[in-house]
Amino acid sequence: MTKSNGEEARMGGRMERFQQGVRKRTLLAKKKVQDITKEDVKSYLFRNAFVLLTVTAVIVGMAALDSKASGKMGMRAVVYYMATTVIAVVTGIVIVVIIHPGKGTKENMHREGKIVQVTAADAFLDLIRNMFPPNLVEACFKQFKTNYEKKSFKVPVQPNDTLVGAVINNVSEAMETLTRITEEMVPVPGSVNGVNALGLVVFSMCFGFVIGNMKEQGQALREFFDSLNEAIMRLVAVIMWYAPLGILFLIAGKIVEMEDMGVIGGQLAMYTVTVIVGLLIHAVIVLPLLYFLVTRKNPWVFIGGLLQALVTALGTSSSSATLPITFKCLEENNGVDKRVTRFVLPVGATINMDGTALYEALAAIFIAQVNNFELNFGQIITISITATAASIGAAGIPQAGLVTMVIVLTSVGLPTDDITLIIAVDWFLDRLRTTTNVLGDSLGAGIVEHLSRHELKNRDVEMGNSVIEE
Ligand code: ASP
Repeated sequence: MTKSNGEEARMGGRMERFQQGVRKRTLLAKKKVQDITKEDVKSYLFRNAFVLLTVTAVIVGMAALDSKASGKMGMRAVVYYMATTVIAVVTGIVIVVIIHPGKGTKENMHREGKIVQVTAADAFLDLIRNMFPPNLVEACFKQFKTNYEKKSFKVPVQPNDTLVGAVINNVSEAMETLTRITEEMVPVPGSVNGVNALGLVVFSMCFGFVIGNMKEQGQALREFFDSLNEAIMRLVAVIMWYAPLGILFLIAGKIVEMEDMGVIGGQLAMYTVTVIVGLLIHAVIVLPLLYFLVTRKNPWVFIGGLLQALVTALGTSSSSATLPITFKCLEENNGVDKRVTRFVLPVGATINMDGTALYEALAAIFIAQVNNFELNFGQIITISITATAASIGAAGIPQAGLVTMVIVLTSVGLPTDDITLIIAVDWFLDRLRTTTNVLGDSLGAGIVEHLSRHELKNRDVEMGNSVIEE
């Protein structure tokens, strides 16, 4: 009896030591992987590739068109962006009013996470200032930001003891550092991971416009940027090799973490369902229908070609990180003209965010509901306008929408601290709205191409390119 007890204790001790050893090694490996990915891979791939890809894509897209064609195409893209964003906002409002997930009081809901406090005026000014950076080189690694106050909330994270859990967590975290904002990087309107994306896009549009109208004199520059863009696309193709694996781990990691998330309250669960319903209506009904009405082509065939981009958006929560894959899917699978994708997509990834707009309006009304705050019609209109502006201002990076949501809340006097009520589910909802954002940009490219087919053909004739008949 005593002997077997002693044996049990010894076995238990050995098991304990084994587990401790695993945990220690896991931690060390995790740190090493994190150091490498955070410092090297992220800076190298994301910053360098992102800057070059965006700049060259926009220049090439603009330069491939004459001023009349780019003006018309630009107008069509802007009309599409605005129309779909407004429809998304209205859908969000109608759904949240009908389902009314915010019954009861917010006192029953727990808070966790971290939010960044920013005033609406600061966010707007930052957006405008970022559009016109005084120094272009600086814009590649710096963006304007007002001194945002960061507030921390305790997130109860328990150590994950199982070996499988630890491995999944490790790899997922390593992958996550490639795209996720880090502690020191506050999402700022118009910026992507510390890069002033908006400033670079605006400059590249002007530059591309100029060289597109230079006739023979601009030929050398047009060819230069064209081949530079092609080279960057090939370099970025490396992302596509690890993407499926990384995305698998990102999602698996989140599922493992779910047990640490505590109990999601009934209201939060209802809120999550409401957001899903709203996004589904927009992504599965509104956008495909619009595509069909304009182009008379089957939207599902088009969406089928986008699958890899949509899964990447789901895995990374970032429309900007998904950009190279969106290019590939549209051009290679769906045969969309490069002059359209290179021109429309980088701009769309920065300013056209249907999912974010729908989400911001819906979330603001949810926060009003849990505060028992009766909104009048004027306030609902204010929410629609500010949600549209906030989605334009949000960068294409994870959880940027939460930051610009402050604009919406302050516009109608709702407490900005209540953003913490919905942070617990944002890791999930962010993925869904990002996927909707990428879908909106891609269908937009298809629609703009269809509407611009005559200008594109004329330009081909003018440049002596072979014209492919439809
Ligand atoms: N994560 C979103 C995107 O990259 C932005 C947001 O809504 O937070 O498109």
